[in-house]
Amino acid sequence: MPNLFSRFLTFTHSIRFRLVMWFAFILTLVLLAFSVFIYFNQLRDIRGESSYRMTRKLEDVVKKMQLVNGEILLPDGMLNTTDVLVILDDKQAVLASLGAVAPEQVTRIVFSTDGPQRPPDERMMIYFGETDDGAHYSFIKRDVADTRGQTYSFILGTPFDPYGLVGRLTLTLLAGSLLTLAVALGGGFWLADRAMRPVKAITATARDISETDLSRRINLSTRDELGELAHTFDGMLSRLEAAFARQRQFVADASHELRTPLTIVNLEAGRALSAKQRPAQEYQRALSVIQSENEFMTRLVNDLLILARMDDSRIPLDMMDVDLSDVALEAVERLESLAARHGVRLETGDLPEALLRANRQLLIQVASNLIENGIKYAGGAAPLVRVETGSGPDSAWLRVTDNGQGIPAEHLPHLFDRFYRADSARARADDNQPGGTGLGLSIVQSIVHAHRGKIDVESAPEQGTTFLITFPNSKTG
Ligand code: ADP
Repeated sequence: MPNLFSRFLTFTHSIRFRLVMWFAFILTLVLLAFSVFIYFNQLRDIRGESSYRMTRKLEDVVKKMQLVNGEILLPDGMLNTTDVLVILDDKQAVLASLGAVAPEQVTRIVFSTDGPQRPPDERMMIYFGETDDGAHYSFIKRDVADTRGQTYSFILGTPFDPYGLVGRLTLTLLAGSLLTLAVALGGGFWLADRAMRPVKAITATARDISETDLSRRINLSTRDELGELAHTFDGMLSRLEAAFARQRQFVADASHELRTPLTIVNLEAGRALSAKQRPAQEYQRALSVIQSENEFMTRLVNDLLILARMDDSRIPLDMMDVDLSDVALEAVERLESLAARHGVRLETGDLPEALLRANRQLLIQVASNLIENGIKYAGGAAPLVRVETGSGPDSAWLRVTDNGQGIPAEHLPHLFDRFYRADSARARADDNQPGGTGLGLSIVQSIVHAHRGKIDVESAPEQGTTFLITFPNSKTG
């Protein structure tokens, strides 16, 4: 029982219930207004019609009656047994009367009612009233002057109970209104239930979705507002699912990347620590391998940290006014020795001032990553990396060009994917080249996008690659 009550309480809070209740309330008001209008209209019609009939009758009576010795003589059947006729002289004294109601009662009603109703004929007056025994009558009075100038008043009365007549109508209106309301309530609940069914589907799906299984979809095919909501919800789920998948892939890739150097470190340490004595050079070699793998892991962890920071949109970027040419110069100076070690000529263009609002450290990271890649992949007889900056009317740009072997077209769409390496063997295993983590360009992309900039890559096989980064340079940027 309490369960039933609580279910009823829940139901009274539902949109369905409130919707139907509002609907019923408005419908009741409309039905009430309609019934009142019909009622009074009908009452007016009944009164009007009765007055018209009595007027005709009184005219007839005046024409055909005779007054003999104070007695009214009328053709047979002219008055009904319940009708009453009273004739008054000009002092309102009763001259003669005929019919079921005493003349005093008639004059009392006629001369004491609130006032005559509007007559169908301006010479007539109509009065409504109740006789002593409770019968409802309507009276019509007409003043007639005879040939000697004497004025008489003729009062004709007939039983008339307009409220009794419209009583049936009231009942019909009441029954009709209740029936309409009942049908509307039933229909309203049915409709509201149908309309709310998709909401139930959405709720059920949302309840079924767990963090690990985001594959459920509502798949509502209706084209109404709820269909649109479900579609938006499905879209959000797809994006979440993709984001979770990316996240999972990222963690898997990161673990995978760390596993190789960890294994190497473990192997080298194990070998060095084994019981057998070895020549000093071998220990040195083992330590240098361990150091190199450690460097790689440090770089990887640093890159992961930068990416995690860039992914968290809540961390503010600390923007300031930055000259892109200064940034390029600082990155070039930092990497000059690395370029020299690899026999790569690192040159700069004019580097004119290119102002923008940005985080200076992050821009240095962008330039460094691109230049480092240039140094890594520049090639031919005279390896060269060229760094240029400039500005347009509403942009500032940085261009890094190398004369390396270029990037095959099929790799270009994936270049900025995390851990993507167009040529993994070349990127890691070459002792002369600094090992790449596969995150350099992802970091570049994250930083550039955080600054609302864009990246263009042009690469021709055996000719080299050009990265062009363009930032909007609005001061608010
Ligand atoms: P990595 O740390 O391996 O360099 P990046 O994200 O910086 O990772 O680059 C991804 C891949 O894109 C590299 O492995 C390399 O194959 C390719 N690449 C990047 N820059 C160049 C370039 N200047 N010339 C040729 N290939 C490049």
